[in-house]
Amino acid sequence: MATKLQADEISSLIKERIENFEIQVDINEVGKVVSIGDGVAKAYGLSNVMAGEMVEFENGTKGMVLNLEESSVGIVVLGKFEDIREGMSVKRTGELLKIPVGEELVGRVVNPLGEPLDGKGPIDAKERRFVEEKAPGIMERKSVHEPLQTGIKAIDCLVPVGRGQRELIIGDRQTGKTTLAIDTIINQKGNGVICVYVAIGQKQSTVAGLVQKLEEAGAMEYTIVVNAGASDPSAMQFLAPYAGVTMAEYFRDSARHSVIFYDDLSKHAVAYREMSLILRRPPGREAYPGDVFYLHSRLLERSAKVNDELGAGSITAFPIIETQAGDVSAYIPTNVISITDGQIFLETDLFNSGIRPAINVGLSVSRVGGAAQIKATKQVSGTLRLDLASYRELQAFAQFASDLDEASRNQLERGQRMVELLKQPPYAPIAIEKQVIAIYAGAKGFLDDLPVESITKFEPEFTTFVESKYPQILEAIRDSKKIDDATEDELKKAIEDFKSQFVA
Ligand code: ATP
Ligand code: MG
Repeated sequence: MATKLQADEISSLIKERIENFEIQVDINEVGKVVSIGDGVAKAYGLSNVMAGEMVEFENGTKGMVLNLEESSVGIVVLGKFEDIREGMSVKRTGELLKIPVGEELVGRVVNPLGEPLDGKGPIDAKERRFVEEKAPGIMERKSVHEPLQTGIKAIDCLVPVGRGQRELIIGDRQTGKTTLAIDTIINQKGNGVICVYVAIGQKQSTVAGLVQKLEEAGAMEYTIVVNAGASDPSAMQFLAPYAGVTMAEYFRDSARHSVIFYDDLSKHAVAYREMSLILRRPPGREAYPGDVFYLHSRLLERSAKVNDELGAGSITAFPIIETQAGDVSAYIPTNVISITDGQIFLETDLFNSGIRPAINVGLSVSRVGGAAQIKATKQVSGTLRLDLASYRELQAFAQFASDLDEASRNQLERGQRMVELLKQPPYAPIAIEKQVIAIYAGAKGFLDDLPVESITKFEPEFTTFVESKYPQILEAIRDSKKIDDATEDELKKAIEDFKSQFVA
């Protein structure tokens, strides 16, 4: 009799425990979806959840907690939100968002969660990292001193970029912004720099075209493409650049160099605005939430050149901003201009008048890259900048004055040739030593007696000629990184030699 009572007692005790246990779990660890719309779910419960924590819906879809309110939490859905219903349960994972990083991602096209989009099978990454990582502090950094060559004459000679720098590419639509990114990626071939291209809010066909171009150029071998397209939820577009830089950080931390392109941060800001408004965060200027500056500054701060103790790796960043009718004074462009170390301005007028890449060399600057430029480029680019500046001044003036004095006329003629010399077709980056000899020829006046129209033909033919007949010139510049007196004499000879047989 006594034993039976005991057994009853025990079983009721167990039942009670189980009941209480469940209640605890329900409130703190599991929630219920109370509303869902536009990729954002509101859930009741989950009272222990952290901001930025990953949660999982009943059907396996992942989400990230962004808003913590008194009686509910706001969750952005990272995946298809059409399948999520009111009343579904959602549980904590106890972890902030992590994504796979490592060598396994190189050569792949992935979404911001590191899941493959290219149909080339699963990615077996060994390491996962937090998407929101703190940027290196001052003591962990080193000043920028090695060049990151883009292969584009107008950039490498006039607005040189260094490894670890943040250089903004800014311009209206269809001015060649993405092409600068592709050219720069192609130019990294064989130099060990890992490229990460983050496509935000673009059409799938555009991204597919880009991947194909990279593949054709053999550049996918050292490139990761992170894609959150226009049709993906705004939360995915918001995450994409952070995912990209997290992948790049892996290479920086293993003492290597990487370069990342955010194409583009205007669309990123719009996706963030959309997400924030649905989460009912208060809008500020141009309806962007108040922390949109922090959004981009914490992202761009993560590109850095780290010190020798940390392996001296680097992340160079090229954020891209699309302007409306050339207006750089709008909210997002001014924000990003102030966060970066310089900007490359692309202009529709230049593009349409055939000056391509359509870089406005007067307005484009690079605040730190000069320290990273090789001496040979410095030797030729000083006069180039002056020639172009005086050309621009005279150009406006020359429209009114019909008869200019000889000196001004010569300046004008020189300027025209230099502008021609900086033109370059897409997807054909040029090695730095070839850029140097071509600019040298122009800057030293060797092209003044050639017709302006023949300059674009002169440049590729001349560099090919030097490559086959005077390879030692290119070698000397490549090795010593400067033009010494002997090389200069030889270069002069090579130019005369080529000109004697060049048909304009
Ligand atoms: P969007 O605003 O649509 O993203 P974008 O500014 O990224 O455009 P791109 O897509 O790079 O511009 O270039 C637009 C077009 O201009 C492309 O067809 C490209 O091939 C052409 N283009 C770009 N650069 C050059 C160049 N240097 N010479 C000739 N054509 C070019
Ligand atoms: Mg583009």
